Amino acid sequence: MPSPVGVALLGATGSIGKSALKVLERQRDRFVPVAMTANGNAAALAEQVAQFGPAYVGLVQGSVEAPSGWGRGPECLVEAATHPDASIVINAVVGAAGLPATLAALRQGKRVALANKETLVVAGDIVTRTAREHGAELVPVDSEHSAILQCLAGRQPHEVKRLILTASGGPFRTWPAERIAQATRADALKHPTWQMGSKITIDSATLANKALEVIEAHHLFGVPYDRIEVVVHPQSIIHSFVEFVDGSVLAQMGVPSMELPILYALTWPERVADTGVPSFDPVALGGLTFEHVRHEQFPMLGLGISAGRAGGAAPAVFNAANEEAVAQFLAGALSFGGIAERVAEALQDLAGAPGDSLETLLAADAAARDHVKSRIAQEA
Ligand code: NAD
Ligand code: MG
Repeated sequence: MPSPVGVALLGATGSIGKSALKVLERQRDRFVPVAMTANGNAAALAEQVAQFGPAYVGLVQGSVEAPSGWGRGPECLVEAATHPDASIVINAVVGAAGLPATLAALRQGKRVALANKETLVVAGDIVTRTAREHGAELVPVDSEHSAILQCLAGRQPHEVKRLILTASGGPFRTWPAERIAQATRADALKHPTWQMGSKITIDSATLANKALEVIEAHHLFGVPYDRIEVVVHPQSIIHSFVEFVDGSVLAQMGVPSMELPILYALTWPERVADTGVPSFDPVALGGLTFEHVRHEQFPMLGLGISAGRAGGAAPAVFNAANEEAVAQFLAGALSFGGIAERVAEALQDLAGAPGDSLETLLAADAAARDHVKSRIAQEA
């Protein structure tokens, strides 16, 4: 077998990062981690580094004590992503902070296995153009997009009629609106089917995550918004559907484990033998059910899709306002219902800002965060 392919793992200590390391460990004949980063958890990163021995290690939080050989500060993400030994970059950072590293890796023609969906929401046109111009591959890790990629294998764009993304519906799928508005942090962090980082878990409870994913799908697959739909599927077994022009529908399914789409993003378009999940047992599933989204109770989905359709700075504003509102909710400074209210206000005031360059998009991102912060400060 040829020597293993070098992988840079950004966000190694997170939920996706840890799942990625399990995959890399099982597939060590094929892949080897050559660069790893974390935000602030130096102790957890040090443990992973001791196990995997990457050539480059980076810690984003400059104030945290760390071994002298490590890269420091936000630049370490780009240093890891452009490490000469890395052919694949797994971007498992949370939030718009992952954007510069994605762009840097694509500019060097590397494959980016992208979990960091915010990258595509903030600057989807720029990111996909950069990938095209440099012959780089942008391969989704997000389970819905991995499902679509798998369903699209060998097909042409004109054969595709619709993408249908599935959503678990989150912990408040059946709750009345008044109860959702007052949901606590603990309520919102109880995801029914997936174990994930706290930010995406809150996004799954508001359905903002599904809005981010519709925008992500639009950019990854070049499908217009009016041909992307969302259906609630509480069991999270079918990860998405593609409907073709002849009326046939393909779905991709599997137990809800991110190790499957992580591995596929590394080996795509091939599949390799792996032992990450138990053998599929259709009878044990019981049943698969589907429901319409309750848009009235979950306004974040519609807000995000409208921002995607509007384009320009609107998706960046939606994403940044959401990131700030979720952080404030997790810190106890904002109610659950307040997340959608603050994001709607930010969109109303800022969505029309210019968004034709990286600079203007980052300015819109910063303005949206300030907007949410100042509204919350006014109310306190
Ligand atoms: P997490 O919070 O568990 O981990 C985030 C990782 O990024 C950590 O290693 C952390 O140290 C690092 N990080 C956080 N803030 C950072 C910053 N400002 N700069 C640099 N690094 C930073 O999150 P997660 O659940 O692993 O999610 C990571 C990304 O993957 C998100 O974009 C999320 O939407 C996406 N995603 C996650 C899942 C999942 O199952 N967890 C599924 C699909 C997509
Ligand atoms: Mg997803």
